[in-house]
Amino acid sequence: MIDKIEQWVRPEIRQIGAYHVPDSSAMTKLDAMENPYGLPDDLLDRWLEEVRHASLNRYPDPAASELINCLQDDINLAAGQSILLGNGSDEIIQMLAMAVSGAKRVLLVPEPGFVMYKMIAAFVGMEYHGVPLDENFELDVAAMLAAIEQHDPAIVFLAYPNNPSGNCWDKEAMISIIKAANGLVVVDEAYFPFAEKTFMDELGKFDNLLVMRTVSKMGLAGLRLGYLVGPDAWLQQMNKIRLPYNINVLTQVSAKFFLDNKAVFAEQAAAIRSSRRKLLEALRDISALTVYPSDANFILLKTPPGQADAIFNALKEKKILIKNLNGGHPQLRDCLRVTVGTAEENQMFISALQHAL
Ligand SMILES: *Cc1c(COP(=O)(O)O)cnc(C)c1O
Repeated sequence: MIDKIEQWVRPEIRQIGAYHVPDSSAMTKLDAMENPYGLPDDLLDRWLEEVRHASLNRYPDPAASELINCLQDDINLAAGQSILLGNGSDEIIQMLAMAVSGAKRVLLVPEPGFVMYKMIAAFVGMEYHGVPLDENFELDVAAMLAAIEQHDPAIVFLAYPNNPSGNCWDKEAMISIIKAANGLVVVDEAYFPFAEKTFMDELGKFDNLLVMRTVSKMGLAGLRLGYLVGPDAWLQQMNKIRLPYNINVLTQVSAKFFLDNKAVFAEQAAAIRSSRRKLLEALRDISALTVYPSDANFILLKTPPGQADAIFNALKEKKILIKNLNGGHPQLRDCLRVTVGTAEENQMFISALQHAL
Protein backbone atom coordinates (compact mmCIF):
# COMPACT_ATOMS: atom_id res chain seq x y z
CA MET A 1 0.00 0.00 0.00
CA ILE A 2 2.86 2.40 0.91
CA ASP A 3 4.11 2.44 -2.67
CA LYS A 4 0.66 3.35 -3.94
CA ILE A 5 0.36 6.13 -1.40
CA GLU A 6 3.74 7.44 -2.49
CA GLN A 7 2.69 7.22 -6.11
CA TRP A 8 -0.62 9.03 -5.75
CA VAL A 9 -0.69 11.34 -2.73
CA ARG A 10 0.96 14.63 -3.63
CA PRO A 11 4.41 15.02 -2.03
CA GLU A 12 3.47 18.34 -0.35
CA ILE A 13 0.58 16.55 1.40
CA ARG A 14 2.71 13.55 2.46
CA GLN A 15 5.20 15.99 3.98
CA ILE A 16 2.89 17.81 6.36
CA GLY A 17 1.78 16.50 9.75
CA ALA A 18 -1.98 16.41 10.40
CA TYR A 19 -3.35 19.26 12.54
CA HIS A 20 -2.80 17.93 16.05
CA VAL A 21 -5.44 18.39 18.76
CA PRO A 22 -4.14 17.06 22.12
CA ASP A 23 -6.36 15.02 24.45
CA SER A 24 -7.84 17.46 26.98
CA SER A 25 -10.24 15.26 28.97
CA ALA A 26 -10.30 16.26 32.66
CA MET A 27 -7.96 19.18 31.92
CA THR A 28 -8.39 22.91 32.56
CA LYS A 29 -8.42 23.96 28.92
CA LEU A 30 -6.35 27.07 28.30
CA ASP A 31 -4.93 26.00 24.94
CA ALA A 32 -7.44 26.83 22.21
CA MET A 33 -8.78 30.37 22.80
CA GLU A 34 -12.22 29.16 23.76
CA ASN A 35 -14.60 31.32 25.80
CA PRO A 36 -14.62 29.70 29.30
CA TYR A 37 -18.16 30.72 30.20
CA GLY A 38 -21.35 28.78 29.64
CA LEU A 39 -24.69 30.37 28.81
CA PRO A 40 -27.52 31.29 31.22
CA ASP A 41 -30.23 28.63 31.61
CA ASP A 42 -33.10 30.81 30.38
CA LEU A 43 -31.20 31.56 27.17
CA LEU A 44 -30.43 27.86 26.69
CA ASP A 45 -34.11 26.98 27.14
CA ARG A 46 -35.16 29.51 24.51
CA TRP A 47 -32.42 28.26 22.17
CA LEU A 48 -33.63 24.64 22.54
CA GLU A 49 -37.12 25.81 21.66
CA GLU A 50 -35.75 27.31 18.38
CA VAL A 51 -33.76 24.18 17.58
CA ARG A 52 -36.88 22.08 18.17
CA HIS A 53 -38.50 23.66 15.11
CA ALA A 54 -35.51 23.14 12.81
CA SER A 55 -36.32 20.83 9.86
CA LEU A 56 -33.62 18.19 10.00
CA ASN A 57 -35.27 16.20 7.20
CA ARG A 58 -34.66 19.09 4.78
CA TYR A 59 -31.45 20.41 3.30
CA PRO A 60 -30.49 23.76 4.79
CA ASP A 61 -31.26 27.03 2.98
CA PRO A 62 -28.27 27.06 0.57
CA ALA A 63 -28.05 30.86 0.79
CA ALA A 64 -28.62 30.97 4.59
CA SER A 65 -30.62 34.14 3.88
CA GLU A 66 -32.06 34.71 7.34
CA LEU A 67 -28.68 34.37 8.99
CA ILE A 68 -27.03 36.60 6.38
CA ASN A 69 -29.69 39.29 6.90
CA CYS A 70 -29.04 39.14 10.60
CA LEU A 71 -25.27 39.52 10.11
CA GLN A 72 -25.81 42.40 7.67
CA ASP A 73 -27.65 44.32 10.37
CA ASP A 74 -25.09 43.34 12.98
CA ILE A 75 -22.10 44.72 11.08
CA ASN A 76 -24.00 47.53 9.34
CA LEU A 77 -22.98 46.37 5.88
CA ALA A 78 -22.25 49.15 3.37
CA ALA A 79 -23.68 49.24 -0.16
CA GLY A 80 -21.61 47.25 -2.66
CA GLN A 81 -20.35 44.85 0.03
CA SER A 82 -21.64 41.37 0.74
CA ILE A 83 -21.16 38.41 3.10
CA LEU A 84 -20.01 34.84 2.44
CA LEU A 85 -20.42 32.17 5.13
CA GLY A 86 -18.02 29.34 5.89
CA ASN A 87 -18.01 26.25 8.11
CA GLY A 88 -15.63 28.12 10.40
CA SER A 89 -13.28 30.73 8.99
CA ASP A 90 -10.91 27.83 8.25
CA GLU A 91 -13.25 26.87 5.42
CA ILE A 92 -13.26 30.45 4.15
CA ILE A 93 -9.45 30.46 4.05
CA GLN A 94 -9.70 27.26 2.01
CA MET A 95 -12.30 28.74 -0.38
CA LEU A 96 -10.19 31.86 -0.91
CA ALA A 97 -7.07 29.81 -1.58
CA MET A 98 -8.92 27.50 -3.98
CA ALA A 99 -10.23 30.49 -5.92
CA VAL A 100 -6.76 31.94 -6.55
CA SER A 101 -4.60 28.79 -6.55
CA GLY A 102 -2.51 27.62 -9.45
CA ALA A 103 1.05 26.88 -10.44
CA LYS A 104 3.40 29.60 -9.12
CA ARG A 105 0.58 31.41 -7.30
CA VAL A 106 1.87 32.69 -3.95
CA LEU A 107 0.12 32.89 -0.56
CA LEU A 108 2.01 35.33 1.69
CA VAL A 109 1.81 35.63 5.48
CA PRO A 110 3.84 37.45 8.17
CA GLU A 111 5.43 34.85 10.48
CA PRO A 112 5.02 33.49 13.07
CA GLY A 113 1.33 33.41 12.15
CA PHE A 114 -1.79 31.24 12.14
CA VAL A 115 -0.76 27.73 11.02
CA MET A 116 -3.83 27.03 8.87
CA TYR A 117 -2.73 29.54 6.22
CA LYS A 118 0.38 27.48 5.52
CA MET A 119 -1.42 24.14 5.68
CA ILE A 120 -4.15 25.28 3.30
CA ALA A 121 -1.58 26.66 0.85
CA ALA A 122 -0.20 23.11 0.70
CA PHE A 123 -3.68 21.55 0.37
CA VAL A 124 -4.51 23.64 -2.71
CA GLY A 125 -1.03 23.45 -4.26
CA MET A 126 -0.01 27.09 -3.75
CA GLU A 127 3.46 28.38 -3.04
CA TYR A 128 3.73 29.65 0.55
CA HIS A 129 5.97 32.51 1.67
CA GLY A 130 6.38 33.58 5.29
CA VAL A 131 7.86 37.02 5.98
CA PRO A 132 9.48 37.29 9.45
CA LEU A 133 8.00 39.74 11.95
CA ASP A 134 10.50 41.76 13.99
CA GLU A 135 11.66 40.70 17.49
CA ASN A 136 8.55 42.30 19.06
CA PHE A 137 6.31 40.54 16.52
CA GLU A 138 5.58 43.84 14.77
CA LEU A 139 5.30 44.00 10.98
CA ASP A 140 8.56 44.51 9.12
CA VAL A 141 6.98 46.78 6.53
CA ALA A 142 10.09 47.04 4.32
CA ALA A 143 10.39 43.23 4.24
CA MET A 144 6.67 42.85 3.48
CA LEU A 145 6.80 45.38 0.64
CA ALA A 146 9.93 43.73 -0.79
CA ALA A 147 8.24 40.29 -0.62
CA ILE A 148 5.14 41.67 -2.36
CA GLU A 149 7.34 43.19 -5.06
CA GLN A 150 9.28 39.96 -5.50
CA HIS A 151 6.46 37.37 -5.35
CA ASP A 152 3.36 39.30 -6.49
CA PRO A 153 1.23 37.23 -4.08
CA ALA A 154 -2.27 36.15 -5.18
CA ILE A 155 -3.32 36.52 -1.56
CA VAL A 156 -1.94 37.98 1.68
CA PHE A 157 -3.38 37.09 5.11
CA LEU A 158 -3.02 39.62 7.93
CA ALA A 159 -4.43 38.43 11.26
CA TYR A 160 -5.58 41.42 13.33
CA PRO A 161 -4.67 40.71 16.11
CA ASN A 162 -2.11 38.10 15.12
CA ASN A 163 -2.12 34.54 16.47
CA PRO A 164 0.11 33.47 18.27
CA SER A 165 1.64 36.86 19.17
CA GLY A 166 -1.65 38.50 20.26
CA ASN A 167 -0.88 42.04 19.04
CA CYS A 168 -2.70 44.25 16.54
CA TRP A 169 -0.24 45.58 13.99
CA ASP A 170 0.02 49.24 13.11
CA LYS A 171 -2.96 50.19 10.94
CA GLU A 172 -0.97 52.48 8.64
CA ALA A 173 1.59 49.72 8.06
CA MET A 174 -1.22 47.35 7.08
CA ILE A 175 -2.74 49.92 4.74
CA SER A 176 0.60 50.35 2.99
CA ILE A 177 0.60 46.58 2.42
CA ILE A 178 -2.99 46.64 1.09
CA LYS A 179 -2.00 49.43 -1.31
CA ALA A 180 1.18 47.70 -2.48
CA ALA A 181 -0.47 44.32 -3.08
CA ASN A 182 -1.90 43.58 -6.48
CA GLY A 183 -3.67 40.44 -5.18
CA LEU A 184 -6.19 40.02 -2.37
CA VAL A 185 -5.45 41.10 1.20
CA VAL A 186 -7.58 39.37 3.84
CA VAL A 187 -7.69 40.92 7.31
CA ASP A 188 -8.53 38.04 9.68
CA GLU A 189 -10.43 39.46 12.67
CA ALA A 190 -10.99 36.19 14.55
CA TYR A 191 -10.33 38.01 17.86
CA PHE A 192 -12.41 41.12 17.15
CA PRO A 193 -14.48 40.87 20.39
CA PHE A 194 -11.29 41.26 22.41
CA ALA A 195 -9.48 43.78 20.20
CA GLU A 196 -12.39 46.09 19.37
CA LYS A 197 -10.32 47.37 16.44
CA THR A 198 -11.40 46.65 12.89
CA PHE A 199 -10.81 47.14 9.18
CA MET A 200 -14.56 46.87 8.41
CA ASP A 201 -14.71 50.64 7.89
CA GLU A 202 -11.87 50.42 5.34
CA LEU A 203 -13.97 48.16 3.07
CA GLY A 204 -14.85 49.91 -0.17
CA LYS A 205 -11.72 52.08 -0.08
CA PHE A 206 -9.53 49.39 -1.66
CA ASP A 207 -10.52 46.97 -4.44
CA ASN A 208 -8.48 44.10 -2.96
CA LEU A 209 -9.47 44.20 0.73
CA LEU A 210 -11.63 41.56 2.45
CA VAL A 211 -12.37 41.19 6.17
CA MET A 212 -12.99 37.83 7.85
CA ARG A 213 -14.57 37.07 11.23
CA THR A 214 -15.76 34.03 13.16
CA VAL A 215 -18.11 33.28 16.06
CA SER A 216 -15.61 30.75 17.46
CA LYS A 217 -13.54 32.82 19.86
CA MET A 218 -16.51 34.84 21.20
CA GLY A 219 -18.13 31.71 22.62
CA LEU A 220 -19.58 29.59 19.80
CA ALA A 221 -16.60 27.52 18.66
CA GLY A 222 -18.82 24.43 18.50
CA LEU A 223 -21.14 25.94 15.87
CA ARG A 224 -18.47 26.29 13.18
CA LEU A 225 -19.39 29.59 11.56
CA GLY A 226 -17.11 32.14 9.97
CA TYR A 227 -17.91 34.97 7.59
CA LEU A 228 -16.14 36.97 4.96
CA VAL A 229 -17.09 40.54 4.12
CA GLY A 230 -16.01 42.39 0.98
CA PRO A 231 -16.92 43.72 -2.46
CA ASP A 232 -19.88 41.93 -4.15
CA ALA A 233 -17.84 41.16 -7.26
CA TRP A 234 -15.12 39.24 -5.36
CA LEU A 235 -17.58 37.37 -3.17
CA GLN A 236 -19.68 36.28 -6.15
CA GLN A 237 -16.60 34.45 -7.44
CA MET A 238 -15.82 32.88 -4.05
CA ASN A 239 -19.45 31.82 -3.72
CA LYS A 240 -19.06 29.51 -6.73
CA ILE A 241 -16.52 27.47 -4.80
CA ARG A 242 -18.63 27.24 -1.65
CA LEU A 243 -20.31 23.82 -1.36
CA PRO A 244 -24.08 24.40 -1.51
CA TYR A 245 -25.01 23.31 2.02
CA ASN A 246 -21.85 24.22 3.92
CA ILE A 247 -23.78 25.81 6.81
CA ASN A 248 -25.97 23.15 8.40
CA VAL A 249 -29.54 23.63 9.62
CA LEU A 250 -28.61 23.66 13.32
CA THR A 251 -25.86 26.23 12.83
CA GLN A 252 -28.14 28.51 10.80
CA VAL A 253 -30.91 28.43 13.38
CA SER A 254 -28.58 28.70 16.36
CA ALA A 255 -26.35 31.47 15.01
CA LYS A 256 -29.38 33.58 14.12
CA PHE A 257 -30.84 33.04 17.59
CA PHE A 258 -27.59 33.98 19.33
CA LEU A 259 -27.11 37.08 17.15
CA ASP A 260 -30.58 38.17 18.23
CA ASN A 261 -29.38 37.67 21.82
CA LYS A 262 -25.85 38.92 21.51
CA ALA A 263 -25.73 41.00 24.72
CA VAL A 264 -24.61 37.96 26.73
CA PHE A 265 -21.55 37.52 24.48
CA ALA A 266 -20.69 41.21 24.73
CA GLU A 267 -20.75 40.89 28.54
CA GLN A 268 -18.59 37.78 28.44
CA ALA A 269 -16.08 39.45 26.08
CA ALA A 270 -15.89 42.42 28.47
CA ALA A 271 -15.23 40.03 31.37
CA ILE A 272 -12.50 38.31 29.36
CA ARG A 273 -10.88 41.65 28.49
CA SER A 274 -10.85 42.60 32.14
CA SER A 275 -9.40 39.19 33.15
CA ARG A 276 -6.78 39.62 30.45
CA ARG A 277 -5.64 42.87 32.05
CA LYS A 278 -5.32 41.17 35.46
CA LEU A 279 -3.57 38.13 34.02
CA LEU A 280 -1.11 40.37 32.14
CA GLU A 281 -0.32 42.22 35.38
CA ALA A 282 0.18 39.00 37.34
CA LEU A 283 2.44 37.57 34.64
CA ARG A 284 4.49 40.77 34.37
CA ASP A 285 5.17 40.48 38.11
CA ILE A 286 7.04 37.24 37.39
CA SER A 287 10.49 38.55 36.51
CA ALA A 288 11.67 35.34 34.81
CA LEU A 289 9.11 35.78 32.02
CA THR A 290 8.89 38.00 28.96
CA VAL A 291 5.21 38.83 28.54
CA TYR A 292 3.97 40.18 25.21
CA PRO A 293 1.08 42.67 24.96
CA SER A 294 -2.28 41.22 23.87
CA ASP A 295 -5.36 42.49 22.05
CA ALA A 296 -6.75 38.94 22.00
CA ASN A 297 -8.09 36.39 24.51
CA PHE A 298 -4.67 34.79 24.90
CA ILE A 299 -1.19 35.83 26.03
CA LEU A 300 2.19 34.90 24.60
CA LEU A 301 5.02 34.30 27.09
CA LYS A 302 8.72 33.63 26.77
CA THR A 303 10.33 31.49 29.46
CA PRO A 304 14.02 31.53 30.43
CA PRO A 305 16.08 29.71 27.74
CA GLY A 306 15.39 25.99 27.51
CA GLN A 307 12.62 25.87 30.13
CA ALA A 308 9.42 26.00 28.06
CA ASP A 309 8.98 22.22 27.66
CA ALA A 310 9.52 21.55 31.36
CA ILE A 311 7.09 24.30 32.38
CA PHE A 312 4.50 23.09 29.88
CA ASN A 313 4.82 19.54 31.25
CA ALA A 314 4.68 20.66 34.89
CA LEU A 315 1.41 22.50 34.14
CA LYS A 316 0.10 19.43 32.34
CA GLU A 317 0.90 17.31 35.41
CA LYS A 318 -1.40 19.66 37.31
CA LYS A 319 -4.08 19.16 34.65
CA ILE A 320 -3.64 22.59 33.11
CA LEU A 321 -3.37 22.50 29.32
CA ILE A 322 -1.80 25.49 27.53
CA LYS A 323 -0.04 25.64 24.15
CA ASN A 324 3.65 24.86 23.87
CA LEU A 325 5.04 26.81 20.92
CA ASN A 326 8.67 25.87 21.57
CA GLY A 327 10.13 23.74 18.79
CA GLY A 328 7.86 25.15 16.08
CA HIS A 329 8.74 28.45 14.45
CA PRO A 330 12.32 29.63 15.29
CA GLN A 331 11.02 33.00 16.55
CA LEU A 332 8.86 31.12 19.08
CA ARG A 333 11.72 29.35 20.83
CA ASP A 334 10.96 29.16 24.61
CA CYS A 335 7.43 30.46 24.00
CA LEU A 336 4.13 29.36 25.55
CA ARG A 337 0.64 30.63 24.80
CA VAL A 338 -2.15 30.70 27.38
CA THR A 339 -5.83 31.40 26.79
CA VAL A 340 -7.51 33.82 29.20
CA GLY A 341 -9.88 31.69 31.31
CA THR A 342 -12.21 32.38 34.21
CA ALA A 343 -10.79 34.23 37.24
CA GLU A 344 -10.34 30.87 39.06
CA GLU A 345 -8.67 29.21 36.08
CA ASN A 346 -6.26 32.13 35.65
CA GLN A 347 -5.41 31.98 39.35
CA MET A 348 -4.75 28.23 39.15
CA PHE A 349 -2.56 28.80 36.12
CA ILE A 350 -0.52 31.55 37.80
CA SER A 351 0.05 29.45 40.95
CA ALA A 352 1.06 26.38 38.96
CA LEU A 353 3.34 28.49 36.77
CA GLN A 354 5.09 30.08 39.78
CA HIS A 355 5.54 26.62 41.22
CA ALA A 356 6.98 25.30 37.93
CA LEU A 357 9.49 28.18 37.71
C1 LIG B 1 -8.88 30.51 15.61
C2 LIG B 1 -8.52 31.25 14.39
C3 LIG B 1 -9.25 31.10 13.20
C4 LIG B 1 -10.19 29.92 13.01
O1 LIG B 1 -11.48 30.19 13.28
P1 LIG B 1 -12.65 29.16 12.99
O2 LIG B 1 -13.75 30.08 12.60
O3 LIG B 1 -12.89 28.46 14.27
O4 LIG B 1 -12.28 28.23 11.87
C5 LIG B 1 -8.95 31.91 12.12
N1 LIG B 1 -7.94 32.80 12.19
C6 LIG B 1 -7.20 32.95 13.29
C7 LIG B 1 -6.09 33.94 13.31
C8 LIG B 1 -7.46 32.18 14.43
O5 LIG B 1 -6.67 32.29 15.51
